[in-house]
Amino acid sequence: MPESIGAELEALRAKVQAFIDDDLRPLETALGEDGEEASEETRRRVRERSRELGLFQMTQPEEFGGVRTGPLALTVVRETLAAANSRLTRYVFGPGPGALGSATGELRARYLEPVLRGEKQGAWAFTEPGDAQRPTWATRDGDDLVVTGRKSYVSGGAEADFYTVLVNVEDDGSAPGGTALVVIDRGTPGLVMQREFRSLEGGGHIDLRIEGVRVPQANVVGKIGEGMPRALGNITSMRLGLAAQASGLAMWVTEFTERSITAPHRGGGKLADREGVRLHYGEMRMQTYAVRSMLYRTARLAEASSKEEESMNEIMATKVFATETLGRVVDTAIQLAGGQALIIGHPLERLYREVRSWRIAEGPSDVLRLNIARGRVEFGSGRL
Ligand SMILES: Cc1cc2nc3c(=O)[nH]c(=O)nc-3n(C[C@H](O)[C@H](O)[C@H](O)COP(=O)(O)OP(=O)(O)OC[C@H]3O[C@@H](n4cnc5c(N)ncnc54)[C@H](O)[C@@H]3O)c2cc1C
Repeated sequence: MPESIGAELEALRAKVQAFIDDDLRPLETALGEDGEEASEETRRRVRERSRELGLFQMTQPEEFGGVRTGPLALTVVRETLAAANSRLTRYVFGPGPGALGSATGELRARYLEPVLRGEKQGAWAFTEPGDAQRPTWATRDGDDLVVTGRKSYVSGGAEADFYTVLVNVEDDGSAPGGTALVVIDRGTPGLVMQREFRSLEGGGHIDLRIEGVRVPQANVVGKIGEGMPRALGNITSMRLGLAAQASGLAMWVTEFTERSITAPHRGGGKLADREGVRLHYGEMRMQTYAVRSMLYRTARLAEASSKEEESMNEIMATKVFATETLGRVVDTAIQLAGGQALIIGHPLERLYREVRSWRIAEGPSDVLRLNIARGRVEFGSGRL
């Protein structure tokens, strides 16, 4: 195996592959139009089987019945699932704790526990509009915070029960300020869903106006001052997950292209007989190989790191490289497949839309490039 993952992880990969072949593929026949959600019954069956196999629990904390799973094993599972390019793989993992991971007391009982049981859904409110005059801020008022601002790109916000919002708490002389993650219930007076919109890949989002929203200070995750590091910690593991998905999809696209160029073509023979086509196909294989090599090296570094910061730069690099490469691989695959690939509902057409957002979500490529350079130049961190 090029990634030399060892017998245990090989067995895990084989188990995931058998789950795809024996459980997911037969269920796919019950799916409706592309873009439609699977029925509740189909989702229940995916979750049930995933739970039996111990996959559902991999993203959940141990104290809630989860199975401790390191970054390398998660990478193997995520990549294998993505390489199936199945619309059902999104239901395989149980809800994770996200930024609420270390919540205690009321926050844990009212938000974290219901999220992990699948009874409540949160949404992540970090991004602000480009023309914001001032980042979202909060002032203290007794035991409360009063929050004002805008969050312009909240995925799943229309269905969420609550929002985890990054705010800047003002230093009012009585206590120090700083960034904080604050949990705000949907329906709290002053929280206005300004606009609902959809993005290219089909995701649904909202633009939130926050007008003097009063929220107990007990709803701060951790402490005031910890908001940005907590937000970034959460993003780091999501970036590695996205890179693993990009790697798996690049494999799927490369194999799809192989099947298509080796099939009989109307011009006689196969497209793979032509040198120009082979050149492009060779490039796709080379790029996909490079992504997988980088992904597994980074996942091993993350596995060996005692703190997330130790592999943060490599995870950023892998996220950028994997998502940009996947974009090029899908684009080349469409070119080699011809007009058929542009018909709405064709798997490459869907992927072309789906993966475009990955170069912006979880940190735009150029911003991450700058962070990598800053990490080295200013802090001496990062590896080659
Ligand atoms: C599908 C999808 C889902 C999302 N879900 C969420 C969510 O749930 N919650 C949430 O909070 N946000 C979400 N986002 C928003 C996402 O986090 C932001 O789009 C992203 O962080 C970039 O911010 P921006 O769109 O404001 O772009 P800007 O910050 O305005 O940047 C625009 C572009 O300018 C360039 N640029 C910016 N700064 C620099 C710089 N310093 N140097 C060089 N170039 C630069 C980059 O090319 C960048 O892409 C989502 C986005 C997408 C596409």
